[in-house]
Amino acid sequence: MSSETAEKYKAISPAEFFYKYKEIAGFANPARALYQTVRELVENALDATDSHGILPDIKIVIQRADPVQEFYRVTVEDNGIGIPPDIVPNAFGRVLFSSKYVLKQTRGMYGLGVKMAVLYGQMTTGRPIEVITSKREYRRIYFFKIRIDINKNEPIVLERGSWRKQRDWHGTIVSLTIEGDWGKAKARIKEYVNRTAIVTPYANIVMYTPDNEVVFYKRVIDVMPRPPREVKPHPYGVDLEMLKMIMESSKQPTILEALVENFQSVGEVTARDLLTRAGIDPSISPSSLKEDDLLKLVNVMKTYSQYKPPSSSAISPLGTEVIKAGLNRMFEPEFVEAVTRRPSTYEGHPFIVEAGIAYGGKVPLSEPDKPTTLRYANKIPLLYDEGSDVITSVVKEDIAWENYLVSFPAPIVLLVHVCSTKVPFKGVGKESIADVPEVRREIKLAISEVARRLRGYLTAKQKEFEAQRKVVHLAKYIPEIARSIEVIFSGDGLDREILVKKIVEIISAKTGIPESKINEVLKNVEIGA
Ligand code: ADP
Ligand code: MG
Repeated sequence: MSSETAEKYKAISPAEFFYKYKEIAGFANPARALYQTVRELVENALDATDSHGILPDIKIVIQRADPVQEFYRVTVEDNGIGIPPDIVPNAFGRVLFSSKYVLKQTRGMYGLGVKMAVLYGQMTTGRPIEVITSKREYRRIYFFKIRIDINKNEPIVLERGSWRKQRDWHGTIVSLTIEGDWGKAKARIKEYVNRTAIVTPYANIVMYTPDNEVVFYKRVIDVMPRPPREVKPHPYGVDLEMLKMIMESSKQPTILEALVENFQSVGEVTARDLLTRAGIDPSISPSSLKEDDLLKLVNVMKTYSQYKPPSSSAISPLGTEVIKAGLNRMFEPEFVEAVTRRPSTYEGHPFIVEAGIAYGGKVPLSEPDKPTTLRYANKIPLLYDEGSDVITSVVKEDIAWENYLVSFPAPIVLLVHVCSTKVPFKGVGKESIADVPEVRREIKLAISEVARRLRGYLTAKQKEFEAQRKVVHLAKYIPEIARSIEVIFSGDGLDREILVKKIVEIISAKTGIPESKINEVLKNVEIGA
């Protein structure tokens, strides 16, 4: 017999995997877990409202849940679309179950977020998640208490019930009790909510903290970003497995129709062209394609150069009005501007970059070498890993701020938003954006454009300042000149007031400074006796 011990083989469920490696999803310790829980619930709440054209009303309550232990109950309520009762158990109790595995921009994307919080709650306090929900058209409100069976990755419904709706309510209320560390997480959570509020000026967001503090961001506009629409995949983004799945499940009788039906930017002419190039008979059934044919077809599809670019209707930029309203609400600046760039693509994924800039007013002074930069991806604020983000790198290396008349520290806030059906995140943390050349270029163009407008404003301000100085300088002499003329022509009925008026007219005509401005300064000039 060999002395080696036998290997033990075993498969684990997705729930067990994330239970063991909770750090991957941001639940490394009680402080991070509390922050992450608030974040996951708020992002689900926003996805359920603004992505469906509903102006969000979001309420966040964080309470101490135990007199001795550091347990916190986090409750987030939204006025969103609600969840059908037969879906609720899986939505909250099965890891990798989601309504967002479709091609459109959402905050959530992995079908993991809220389940991580449920798992963490289960591990630390043993308490289940509680969900109350109703859709607009329902007559009843549904109530659930759910745990996750970690081995099976299945929901266990501990309690369920429903009651008649008394008023016209729709939305979802989710409550979780987890071990947390409010003291350590406080600053991050507030920062997160604040940054979220900057890009959602169309939302009412209120947060009640364990310190009995109430933070309230009141809605300031009724304009919302255009909700994203689900799109079919673009052929540039296709791979062999994907094509196989699409063709196997396709209901169309011929491969030609299957291509037209399942991809965007592929009409009949293009589809025929693709099939001819791949040497495939357009009338065969899509499910009868051999592996070899599929491979040929994928290669043709990826290298074909005559498609229309990917549609941008699946992405939902904030829009300049929303960005400006958000910056105004938060900073009351003296100058604000924003731009939304035209859609662009990388590797078959559409994306849009937006930038906003706020100057002066209550904008805090920046660091000594760059503007305060607020980074966003798909409307989610990115708070960590600033140093490794392509946005930071563009701000520091690609923009010659002195050309825009800016020297740091300055009261400048710069906002940059990258939105896409696939944001090129660095790693799974979703905290920084990778340096993709196409994206980098758009970021640079967006920032340059708002910086140029700031320069316009600063130039005008500088001119005005100089004009003001000139006026002050000239105005000093006006009474003196008027008096001299009066003395020289004394007795000719010359009135000093009329003389002053004439001189002001002449100065205004020669300098282009409005008379009103000169008169204003004149009021403060001492008139000699
Ligand atoms: P993800 O957000 O990545 O899809 P989650 O685990 O956070 O994953 O949520 C799972 C699913 O539960 C969501 O896709 C959504 O369909 C549903 N859901 C969660 N919270 C809400 C909510 N507040 N309102 C409506 N649906 C929700
Ligand atoms: Mg989510």
